[in-house]
Amino acid sequence: MVQVSAETGAGRSGDPIRSVVIVGGGTAGWMTAALMAKRLEGLGVAITLVESSSIGTIGVGEATTPAIRDYFREAGLDEAAVMRASHATIKLGIAFDGWAGEGSRFFHPFGLYGTPSNGVAFHQYWLKLRAGGDLRPIDDYCLATQLAYADRFLPPPRPAPDYAFFDWAVHFDAGLYARYLAEVAMARGVRHVDARVRAVTRDPQSGHIAAIDTEEAGAIRGDLFVDCSGFRSLLLGQALGEPFIDWTDLLPCDRAAAIPCAHAPGGGFEPYTRSTALAAGWQWRIPLQHRVGNGYVYASRHISDDEAVATLIGRLEGEALAEPNLIRFTAGHRRQFWSGNCVAIGLSAGFLEPLESTSITLIHSGIERLLQLFPDRHFDPALAADYNRISTLEYERVRDFLLLHYWGNKRANEPLWQGCRDTPLPDKLAHKIRMFTSRGRMVRYEWDSFQDPSWLSLFAGLGLLPERWDPLADFFTPDQISGAFDRIREKIAEGVASASTHRDYAAAHFAAA
Ligand code: FAD
Repeated sequence: MVQVSAETGAGRSGDPIRSVVIVGGGTAGWMTAALMAKRLEGLGVAITLVESSSIGTIGVGEATTPAIRDYFREAGLDEAAVMRASHATIKLGIAFDGWAGEGSRFFHPFGLYGTPSNGVAFHQYWLKLRAGGDLRPIDDYCLATQLAYADRFLPPPRPAPDYAFFDWAVHFDAGLYARYLAEVAMARGVRHVDARVRAVTRDPQSGHIAAIDTEEAGAIRGDLFVDCSGFRSLLLGQALGEPFIDWTDLLPCDRAAAIPCAHAPGGGFEPYTRSTALAAGWQWRIPLQHRVGNGYVYASRHISDDEAVATLIGRLEGEALAEPNLIRFTAGHRRQFWSGNCVAIGLSAGFLEPLESTSITLIHSGIERLLQLFPDRHFDPALAADYNRISTLEYERVRDFLLLHYWGNKRANEPLWQGCRDTPLPDKLAHKIRMFTSRGRMVRYEWDSFQDPSWLSLFAGLGLLPERWDPLADFFTPDQISGAFDRIREKIAEGVASASTHRDYAAAHFAAA
C-alpha cells in the first residue's frame, strides 16, 4: 500500500511563481499568453513571451474543433471579433472523400444523430432498419451534416432535440489569429521580447531551467518556463533531453505540402473542412473568407516531395497565392510533457498529424491543465506526474481516433492504404472496434476528446457495421421506427430550409473588413 503524507513532495506553500517565461510566439505561445494573463491577473505574476521574428512560425493550423470556442470564452475573447480579425469561417465538421473507396463520401459532424428512444441509442434503430433493407446513410439524421452539405448555417435551437443539436468550430488564418491574440495578451500586460534563444542555463542542483540566453536581449530568468518553440522543442527536447515517443508505425504520414489559393470565381465557402484521400496520403481543403488553405499530407515512403507538390498544384481550385510550404514531421510526443520547471505546449510537446485538426485543441487542454495544476516554486513532482499521465492518455486517444481513419480505409490497389489496413492495432482501439462491430456498443475511455457520435460517424462512414443490434431496439417494430425516422428527416429538412447561406451568415455576423 502506498503511504500518502501531507509532507510528500513540496507540501510547503508561500513560494508562489513570480515569473513565467513562454518561449515561442506561434499559436501555442500566444494562446498560452492570452489565457494565462487573464487567469493570473492581479496575482503579481510577470509573463514574458520570447520569440524570434527571424525564425517565424510554422504557418499552418487553420482548422479547429468546437473546443476552440470554449477557449475564446475562457480567454475572455469576443467570438465575432476574433472571427472577423482572422477572416474565419464556420466549421460544422469534416467531409471525408475517397476514404471508403474512390467516389465515396461521409461526414464527421460536430453534432448528434437522430434521437434515442427508451434509453437505446439512435444508431441501434438505424442498424435494425438497415438489416431490413433501408440503406439510407446515417448522415440523413443529423442537422449539422445536412446544413454543411447545403452550405448553410444557423445556430441550433435551444433547447434542441438530439438530431438538431450541434456545435461548431471555426477555420481561421493562423497568422492573423496569433496576431490578434498577441494584441490581447500584451494589453493584459504580457511582455513581448523579439529575440533568438541561443542557450539555456540550468540550475546545477535542481536541474531546473534558470534562464534562457538570447542573442538580442541577453539572459531572461524565470520561475516557470513554457516551451512553445514548435518542432524544435528548444527547452524540453533539446535542453532537458526529454525523449520522443515515435508513433510513425501507427500513423504513416510524415510530410505535408501546403499552398493557399484564391477562391474559385463564383465559388462559395463551405462550412466544413474537406479531407480527400489520395494515393499516398490525403488532401485538406480549408475555406477562409479571403482564401482557401490546401495541403497534401503524405507518407514520404510512397511519394516524393516533387510529386506531392505537383499533385497538390494540379488539384487547386483557384489561383495559387504562395509558393509551396514543405513541412516534415514525426507523429508522436515527448515522453514527459512537464519536466522540472518546464512544460511544453504545442508542437514542442508533440504532434500526431493534421487529420481531425486536434493540435490546437491539445494546446488548449494543455494550458487548462497547467492552470489547474499550477505549481509553486517547489514544483511538487506529483503535479508534473499527473499532468503527464493525463496528457499521455489524451494523446493516445486522439492517436486511436486518427488511426481508425487509416486502418478502416477501403481504398483499392494502393500500397500505403493496404499497409494501413494491415497495421496491428493498440489493444484499446481493437477492443472498441470489436465491441462496435459485434452489436454497435460504444466503449468509452477516459480523456477521449471524441464522443460517441464522432466515433459513430467513422464506423458508419467506413462501413464498419455490425449485422446485429441492441436487442432492446426490438421493442419497436420496423414500421414504427420508419415512421419516427421519416419525421426526423422532415424536421431536418425544415431546419435546413430556415437557415441562411453560410456566406450571408458570415456577412451579417463576422465578415472581415
Ligand atoms: P510554431 O508555429 O512553429 O511556433 C514556434 C515559435 O517558436 C515561433 O514563434 C518561433 O519564432 C519560436 N522559436 C523557435 N525557435 C526559437 C529560438 N531559438 N528563439 C526564439 N524563438 C524561437 N493544428 C490544428 O489544430 N488544425 C490544423 O488544421 C492543423 N494543421 C496542421 C498542418 C500541418 C502540416 C502541421 C505540421 C501542423 C498542423 N497543425 C494543425 C498544428 C498547428 O500548426 C500547431 O499546433 C500550431 O500552429 C502551434 O504551433 P506552435 O506554436 O507550437 O509552433
